[in-house]
Amino acid sequence: MRRPWTHSRLDARICLALAVLCFACGLYAALHTPWLCVFGFYGAACLAWCAARLYTEHRSRLVRHERARRAAVVDSVPPFSAPVPCCAFWRHTEGAVHGPDCTRPSAPRHVPDGLPLDAREAAAFEAITAHFDDRSAA
Ligand SMILES: [Zn+2]
Repeated sequence: MRRPWTHSRLDARICLALAVLCFACGLYAALHTPWLCVFGFYGAACLAWCAARLYTEHRSRLVRHERARRAAVVDSVPPFSAPVPCCAFWRHTEGAVHGPDCTRPSAPRHVPDGLPLDAREAAAFEAITAHFDDRSAA
């Protein structure tokens, strides 16, 4: 996986390379002109400190970016929506009973018991259901 890139990371690498160069110059100066090594080591220390700060800035930028990405993902998911109470009866019976002031659409409220039957169909229905509660097999 490719590591993410930021300007802070590039600047930190440049500072670290310059710190190594200053440290090498300090070592060279220590061998030939000892008092000059102070500048090289001091410069190396300052550049190393800058590199550490820039790496910290790089990591904090990555964290901010990841937090913003996750917040965008969370915002894109629609929240759970509980059913809206349609009437006082629904609210107090947990949805089992609806009152006369119910605001639900009319179609689910009126479930017909059956279509109106003509005389022949009503007689057939009565013949079928007349012995409905009998315990006989026939
Ligand atoms: Zn209702």
